[in-house]
Amino acid sequence: MTKRSSPGWGTGNDTSLYIHIPFCRTLCPFCCFRPLPFKEDQARRYFKSLRRELDLYVQRGFRFPDFYFGGARPTILMDELTTFHRFTSERASR
Ligand code: SF4
Repeated sequence: MTKRSSPGWGTGNDTSLYIHIPFCRTLCPFCCFRPLPFKEDQARRYFKSLRRELDLYVQRGFRFPDFYFGGARPTILMDELTTFHRFTSERASR
């Protein structure tokens, strides 16, 4: 596989990846994270899309040694977060 890079993007080999989980059960008016109201089916589709998007980057030769999770409430679906963490760890070590 040939590594591709776009101007200004690099290969990601020394780039940390921030993963935003935007959902929250509460929508506090002062919140600066721009949360979306939690709907389980929507959140599960979001995690599935994240995995698909990460695979696209990995297929293009990007490697991310560090991952950071944040958002509104990254732990809102612990099973999905655990699965995604395992998914990212497997891809970080390839
Ligand atoms: S992330 Fe925290 S501050 Fe923001 S809406 Fe949810 S509970 Fe409120």
